[in-house]
Amino acid sequence: MFDTLSDRLTGVFDRLRGRGSLNEQDVRDAMREVRVALLEADVALPVARSFIDKVTEKAVGSQVLKSVTPGQQVVKIVNDELVAMLGGEGEDGAQAAPLLLDAKPPVVIMMVGLQGSGKTTTTAKLGRLIREKHGKKALMASLDVNRPAAQEQLKVLGEQVDVATLPIVAGQQPVDIARRAMESARLQNSDVLLLDTAGRLHVDEALMAEMKAVAGVSVPTEVLLVVDSLTGQDAVNVAKSFSDEVPLTGVVLTRMDGDARGGAALSMRAVTGKPIKFAGTGEKLDAIEAFHPGRVADRILGMGDVVSLVEKAAAVVEKEDADRLAKRMMQGKFDMNDLRMQLKQMQNMGGLGMLAGMLPGMKKAKAAMAASNMDDKVLVHMDAVIGSMTAKERANPALMNAKRKKRVAAGSGTSVQEVNKLLKMHQEMGRAMKQIKKMGGLKGLGALFG
Ligand code: GDP
Repeated sequence: MFDTLSDRLTGVFDRLRGRGSLNEQDVRDAMREVRVALLEADVALPVARSFIDKVTEKAVGSQVLKSVTPGQQVVKIVNDELVAMLGGEGEDGAQAAPLLLDAKPPVVIMMVGLQGSGKTTTTAKLGRLIREKHGKKALMASLDVNRPAAQEQLKVLGEQVDVATLPIVAGQQPVDIARRAMESARLQNSDVLLLDTAGRLHVDEALMAEMKAVAGVSVPTEVLLVVDSLTGQDAVNVAKSFSDEVPLTGVVLTRMDGDARGGAALSMRAVTGKPIKFAGTGEKLDAIEAFHPGRVADRILGMGDVVSLVEKAAAVVEKEDADRLAKRMMQGKFDMNDLRMQLKQMQNMGGLGMLAGMLPGMKKAKAAMAASNMDDKVLVHMDAVIGSMTAKERANPALMNAKRKKRVAAGSGTSVQEVNKLLKMHQEMGRAMKQIKKMGGLKGLGALFG
């Protein structure tokens, strides 16, 4: 996600940060590069232009350039403007827009979008989320009578995520299905009703008329538009046409896992005024994430999405461990025990692939790993290496001299070279963590773990 942009911006900002003083021209030059980077990431032109204007104005028109750390300050301004552009909620505007579930049950969530956007999959993902995360009872109904087997598809997905679906009645029309779904949700005491409306190949009048009719009988609290992020600016245009016709409450961007550019995500709020509530990040039914502008900005600026990482880790390890790790990371402490825990988490989270890009400094580490043919099996070896260290060595890896390395290599059935690799990785991660700490990138962690 956002790889291209992130790579470009990291380069620009490394150069800015590396300088003790900056003048107006330096900022303008850097902003020209940022503009190109945004356009390359397929951000809509007016959005990119307005972004650059705002950042430039704030950066040159204040005390920033006279400060002790002008580069850092400019990056901070860029960060804040990115968050504003992504359009979040909360005091700092960095939070995800929440799913509105507090109305009188059954709360209706209407899913709309073009065919193939991932609407049905997303409906099931949300059903699962509502059951698991919100602890609420959901019913899902497919109103898609155009696409053959669409209703069956939702039924099968419903079974997979353990969320009830409305029994299929052949030949029934969308508005009637919606009415029956409402009735059924009431009778079953469902908290939430998810309506998966029919998709079309493109936005047309018949589709809009049908959506309005369905909205008329179901009075949805949420109307979520599902769009494919891979279609870039088309996704934004589709969102614009939909939002002109139906009162959208938010957008779900699917296939973010394959979207290296991120233009749709970056322009959506500015062009449509609608918040992106969720990002689809894979085909699996748990591959959906709340869209946190603050975290996305951190990710784009190469600070690594530490909070998401720790949250994800927290889901698979004991919360106590995650708390401890977060705290230690905030204090800039990180020993072999912490690294071991992280390696365990990596394994639990499905290996290195997923982690790459989320952890600070991981971009460089990823390249290094690729170069050294590092795969998930290496995680097991690393764990063995740490297991062969004494408690003292784990707490203070600096103790590891040649003799100790040899002993540990023998004890873990690895080689001194592998021991060295692990020590190096520990050092690099420790350094990266110090860096984000310095940059204040962990501000969210405190809130997360109190
Ligand atoms: P619909 O026609 O809009 O209902 O689309 P579907 O829900 O049937 O999805 C079409 C295809 O996209 C399916 O193969 C899904 O598995 C896939 N898909 C949906 N969301 C995502 C996502 O976030 N990432 C990836 N990689 N694939 C997705």
